[in-house]
Amino acid sequence: MEKILCFDLDDTLIDDNYKFEITFCECIKAIINSLETRSPQIDDILKRAREIENRTWDTWPKERLYKPERIANAWVKTYESYAKELKLPIRKHTKNLIESLVLSNYDPPYFIIPGVIETISYLKQKGYRTYVVTLGQSKIQRRKLTVTKLIKYFDDAFYATHDKRIPLAEIKKRHPSDDIYMIGNSIRTDINPALDLNLKAIYIERGNWHRFKATPRNNDFTTLENITELATLF
Ligand SMILES: [Mg+2]
Repeated sequence: MEKILCFDLDDTLIDDNYKFEITFCECIKAIINSLETRSPQIDDILKRAREIENRTWDTWPKERLYKPERIANAWVKTYESYAKELKLPIRKHTKNLIESLVLSNYDPPYFIIPGVIETISYLKQKGYRTYVVTLGQSKIQRRKLTVTKLIKYFDDAFYATHDKRIPLAEIKKRHPSDDIYMIGNSIRTDINPALDLNLKAIYIERGNWHRFKATPRNNDFTTLENITELATLF
């Protein structure tokens, strides 16, 4: 029986979450620069932006949740709401700046998590089939894999807009009798979809976005501290 190892990309193979936090700092700075002496305090801006972003999570179509536009839109809306409230003109320049700050977050550099290349090379050498199963805009996710050259360590890559159960079900269909593992940093989008399909799941916590967290469907999964520990499992 062949073992199929499916890896999440963001915050499993490359660090991603912390780049967003840096971007949000830049967005706050852009808003303060634009509102000048009328600007509210940093924590007030952040709180409002988080509220607006959370609201888009509930109202945007599921297929567009992981597109950069949703976050850019939330930060532009945050700026606009303050400008309106303070009766200041809404500057096109500020809106463009915020949008480009958010979009640049998806650009290189991409930082491969230490130990990833050694671990995946080792697993490939042992004969395991390796797949990437990632959420997000396929063009962006594919670029991360090609720029980092991580693509060469994988037999195939699957891109899902909002639900990994779709590619995982396809993989299960492709390898009906094999042992399939989903390895990732998010209970909500890696572990639970695998458990829903009765696949094996390995959770490696990384990144602190609240949406990574969720109540696991059951406790039938393995938790590791670091991706390098996979070498001891297989
Ligand atoms: Mg992830």
